[in-house]
Amino acid sequence: MNITADFHSHTRYSHGTGTVEDNVVAAMSLGLRALAITDHGERHPLIGVKPSEFDAMRRDVTAVAKEYRFRVLLGIEANILSPRGEIDLSDEDAAKLDIVLAGFHLTAYPLKFRDLFALPLNALTRYVCKNSAKQKVVNTEALVRAVTEHDIDVITHPGFRIDVDFKALGEACAATGTYVELSSRHKTPDLKGVEQIIDTGAKILINSDAHKPVNVGKCGYALQIAETLGLDDTVVANLSDKPIVFRRGAVV
Ligand SMILES: [Zn+2]
Ligand SMILES: [Zn+2]
Repeated sequence: MNITADFHSHTRYSHGTGTVEDNVVAAMSLGLRALAITDHGERHPLIGVKPSEFDAMRRDVTAVAKEYRFRVLLGIEANILSPRGEIDLSDEDAAKLDIVLAGFHLTAYPLKFRDLFALPLNALTRYVCKNSAKQKVVNTEALVRAVTEHDIDVITHPGFRIDVDFKALGEACAATGTYVELSSRHKTPDLKGVEQIIDTGAKILINSDAHKPVNVGKCGYALQIAETLGLDDTVVANLSDKPIVFRRGAVV
């Protein structure tokens, strides 16, 4: 069992170590049919990609895709910024991309001062107070509103450093046709979480979230979970060569 395409990888445009070309060469060496370049959104401190860089990134991606005759999607991993599910990407800027991922990164600059204490408090409530039930409600609401109110293709690594109600997230993703990522890098969701998500009818993408070219397409943990649960390409879209359609028209 292996993935046929990897829809989450980072390059030097944010804090990956490789270039677009390096990641593509790595993906091709594994026999993948496509790769998405999804660097961090602009509110990721110091390393976030500004929308003003999208045009240059597009030229880079197009040139590499042409040279290697390989399918490369240009995307972003936007930050979910508030309990209201706001993200650091406008619809106008998103239209320049092929794929939009979004996830929680606790260091992302919040939109409003009061949000500073809403989401990053996760770390405290989880590890210090040991009572994160209330925080879980806030997190889940943020994710559900993000997928409901924005055209997000994939929710990345749900459950990583935050508590989430996977059933509620799955229901929102099933209703909106948003993929839930089973992340190899962050080893999340766990087996029980994946079960709760797929029970809702939501579909999964298994991605590497590689920050180094050597990790592109490497999805050991996620594949193990898929194998244990007996998941096939009716649930995990990138386990087969069947076309996958993204919101902005890209078909892979
Ligand atoms: Zn991430
Ligand atoms: Zn990532």
